[in-house]
Amino acid sequence: MSNSVEPADVLIVGGGSAGAVLAARLSENPARRVVLLEAGPDYGPTRFPAALLDADRIADLDHDWGYTARGGRLSPEVAAQRGKVIGGSSAVNVGAAHRARARDFAGWAEQGVDDWAFTDVLPYFRALENTPTGHDEFHGRSGPMPVRQLTGADLTAAHSAFIDAAVAYGHKRIADFNGSEQDGVGAFAVNVVDGVRHNSALVYLTAEVRARPNLLVRGGVTVDRVLFRGTKATGVVTADGAVHHADDVILSAGAYGSAAILLRSGIGPAADLTSLGIEPRADLPVGQHLQDHPFFHTIYTLVPGRTQTSPALGALLWTASSEATDGDLDLNIVAVHPNGAPFMPTGGIFALSTALVLPDAHGTLRLVGRDPMTQPVIDHNFLGTDRDRRRMLEGVRLARELARHPALTPSLADLLIPHELPDDATQLTRVIESGLAIYGHATSTAPMGTADSPRAVVDSRGAVHGFAALRVVDASIIPSSPSSVTNLTTIMLAERIADLVYTR
Ligand SMILES: Cc1cc2nc3c(=O)[nH]c(=O)nc-3n(C[C@H](O)[C@H](O)[C@H](O)COP(=O)(O)OP(=O)(O)OC[C@H]3O[C@@H](n4cnc5c(N)ncnc54)[C@H](O)[C@@H]3O)c2cc1C
Repeated sequence: MSNSVEPADVLIVGGGSAGAVLAARLSENPARRVVLLEAGPDYGPTRFPAALLDADRIADLDHDWGYTARGGRLSPEVAAQRGKVIGGSSAVNVGAAHRARARDFAGWAEQGVDDWAFTDVLPYFRALENTPTGHDEFHGRSGPMPVRQLTGADLTAAHSAFIDAAVAYGHKRIADFNGSEQDGVGAFAVNVVDGVRHNSALVYLTAEVRARPNLLVRGGVTVDRVLFRGTKATGVVTADGAVHHADDVILSAGAYGSAAILLRSGIGPAADLTSLGIEPRADLPVGQHLQDHPFFHTIYTLVPGRTQTSPALGALLWTASSEATDGDLDLNIVAVHPNGAPFMPTGGIFALSTALVLPDAHGTLRLVGRDPMTQPVIDHNFLGTDRDRRRMLEGVRLARELARHPALTPSLADLLIPHELPDDATQLTRVIESGLAIYGHATSTAPMGTADSPRAVVDSRGAVHGFAALRVVDASIIPSSPSSVTNLTTIMLAERIADLVYTR
């Protein structure tokens, strides 16, 4: 691999959902020298290991940062998975390909983030995908990311029975969650074709793109911090002390990684930084509005003879709790066959996993020190409000009712995890809080917003307030947790900022 494009015009840190898109789009201009530095391995377009391509294998531990986080008050330590590989978390995720809802983007505007209305972003969602189904108004036919709508014929018997149970319960059948309606139950759309999960590097950093002489992609390079001349970014220093100069630096290291780099660079809460011996450059609320979706799994053994478990991901009930406001859909119940379970007494398992997708509570990400190889302290503060606890309880009760519905009971043998789902609200809330997991949709550690917003770290194009030549473009800048999974929305963000900032 040549180093001939350094020093770079644009240096991108992190080759995940956003970074791979930016590297491909920005290097379309042959006069722009683009360098992408990724901490995990770079497999090129043809050497991805089977574990990363197999859509039924989720969160491959060989390509994970190995982070843990505080979930909530009774879940002191939960796994906080993040892909450490070219393609980032899109290479290890579940492959659900749903966009944030129009209502989510309206919420961004309510937080003072201009020009990210659904009408602004829909053209980019359409342009990034290729899908043969759905209405043209919502769908693209020729973009890089394949999106396939699962149908009844693709689902396992248990997935289909779940949909039938939810419909019998009064929920609407949704044929296309990326179309006009989301309130109801249906099969997932996925970025999986013939069992292969298509991560962002696979589809954006193709052999043709990588052959561009003005693009350098380097794996195995962990970035420590940003270098500055005054308030202008001039490059980065890596964990092993190497310096890479650039005219423009974009952090796309994800909601945990980009925030940690900003903090190590002296951009963050000044008092915290000073206590760590890091000289503050700007007192900005980096890491102060971390969000993700609290997740609670109820796992059942499948009845012997009905143990089909592929595809793992099947169906979704996207609905509103009784306390949801303004057209929000704040609950997800996901029907999935989890992999890697310690034991499967009947040969197959099935989960109904409940997520509170519009939490009120937010958490924090802090450093313990300056060492770039030490994981940050991640506190999700899940169910940190009474309203969040009540809504999650309602969701888990709904999942339990669906599992007991005559449409689904012929598929399910026994409740495996947790040991019991008590009727009593206080007891069930305790079971939920003790068993929380992370849905995997970390956002908002460097939220977009105006310079006078107490929450904002970057402007509506990802530029860090108060600095020149420094942007964050990844899930960190999403103003607050969307009610959806986050991969397509993060790819859209990268596509749109690449277009608005670097093409026009
Ligand atoms: C287990 C799991 C399942 C998920 N399932 C789904 C799903 O089904 N559908 C969906 O839409 N979303 C899903 N998500 C979420 C989605 O994948 C993420 O929101 C999205 O990938 C985030 O993109 P990003 O660009 O912000 O970060 P990432 O894709 O995580 O990319 C960040 C990249 O930066 C690199 N990096 C970090 N720090 C450094 C550093 N210091 N130096 C150099 N490189 C660095 C990382 O190695 C990584 O490659 C899931 C996530 C996980 C973890």
